[in-house]
Amino acid sequence: MAGVLRCYPVFAMCLLCVMTCGIQARAGQPSAAAQPNILLVTIDTLRADHVGCYGYKRATTPAIDRIAAQGTVFTRAFSNTPWTTPSHFCFMTGALVSRHGSRDNLHNRTGVQGRVPVMISEVLRQAGYETAAFVSGYPLLRRSGLAAGFDFYDDDMQDKLFGGTWKVERRAPDTAAAFTRWWQARGAGKPWFAWVHLYDPHGPYTPLPGCADMFVDDGLGPQDAVLDAPGTGPRPPEWTKIAGERQDRQFYISRYDAEIRMADDALRDIAGLLEKAGALGSAIIVVSADHGEYLGEHGRWFVHDDLYSQSLMIPLVFGGPGVPRGGKTDSFAESIDVAPTLLALAGIEPPASMMGKKLFSEEGTVLMHTAELVLSESPRPSRCSVMGPSLQLIGPQPPAGLHDYRSDPLGRSDLVGSRAHELKTMRQFAADAITRARTPWPADGAPPAAQPRPSAPLSGKDRDALKSLGYVQ
Ligand SMILES: [Zn+2]
Repeated sequence: MAGVLRCYPVFAMCLLCVMTCGIQARAGQPSAAAQPNILLVTIDTLRADHVGCYGYKRATTPAIDRIAAQGTVFTRAFSNTPWTTPSHFCFMTGALVSRHGSRDNLHNRTGVQGRVPVMISEVLRQAGYETAAFVSGYPLLRRSGLAAGFDFYDDDMQDKLFGGTWKVERRAPDTAAAFTRWWQARGAGKPWFAWVHLYDPHGPYTPLPGCADMFVDDGLGPQDAVLDAPGTGPRPPEWTKIAGERQDRQFYISRYDAEIRMADDALRDIAGLLEKAGALGSAIIVVSADHGEYLGEHGRWFVHDDLYSQSLMIPLVFGGPGVPRGGKTDSFAESIDVAPTLLALAGIEPPASMMGKKLFSEEGTVLMHTAELVLSESPRPSRCSVMGPSLQLIGPQPPAGLHDYRSDPLGRSDLVGSRAHELKTMRQFAADAITRARTPWPADGAPPAAQPRPSAPLSGKDRDALKSLGYVQ
């Protein structure tokens, strides 16, 4: 593994000023004649610090780690919102919540002043790609609007909570099997873009029997000060409780890790399928998460509401043609960077509606952007966060305030009174980013976005399903 690149220009604001930093050998570049296949994998509720290539000690992610060893790991990647449907729209549109307009689970894009940001699936289909998606959680059902641009959208879920009566979640092996069926049946010729969403690490933590106890009492559970902080005893909410089992936090975290491993095993199977067909090396693969999870921090257990760092720090791993091999970078990255980066790797200019940045140069190096600030938005309650290299601003209301999330991850010390310069800079960044998001973008040659259907009011059944997943109280 290459040495970590460290670039910490604090609060430089010029979005256009970038420099390139190489990570070991440059990878081969995609040619216009050979459009690369693209596999986007989003693992729901996956904290970056529970991934092996991010330093976690348990063997939760051997498949991700293998991709990382041949690709690039972004050690400082952040979600732009901790809500499942809106976060996936950030991935797909390359736009902030204030631009795509999906502000709650099962809520479609609404856009800005009559304009709707286009999804990467729509761009790639227009460019000749075969597009397919395989989702595993209720918030991503077709009715969410995320099916736009996909030739094939598989949201056939099995339920783990209600004996198959309702469709709330599909397990990772079943989602991998659905991908396999599609991939084996598809015709040759067209390049493909596939999005695989795996829901297992989302609460409640009920891994399948074969792997449920693989990490229980193995001595490798998190022992950091955050989880051992006084006054934060295990208080899982009712919807996350594992009936008939231990109720201590180490047990719950071992189950969370087992569900991460289930998702990783599905990725292993998909990668193995591609490898067996000789299609792995020529495919671009990106693995990330829509948000993280609280494992006791801030008095929150096994949920991911609000905007503290534990719900925003996500893994982001790229591999394949055009991606630097075998390195880690501290260059800032966010969910909205994924779509423009994938398009650039495919030789397609990202449309003007995409706000994210390209993460790699045409020469196959990491672009080190000097703007080390990321805006995240929460629709419920309406708040926003600005993440910097060490400081996080959460507003608009106290008591969250300004704190150093690296040295003070529980936010015990409010720095509003002592870091006036940084506070002013971060507030201005948030205001500018939201203003930019809400400003209509210039027309370009991008395909027209699918006109979103208004989100239907939640039915009683919807509310019960979302309640079972902790989204509705
Ligand atoms: Zn989610």
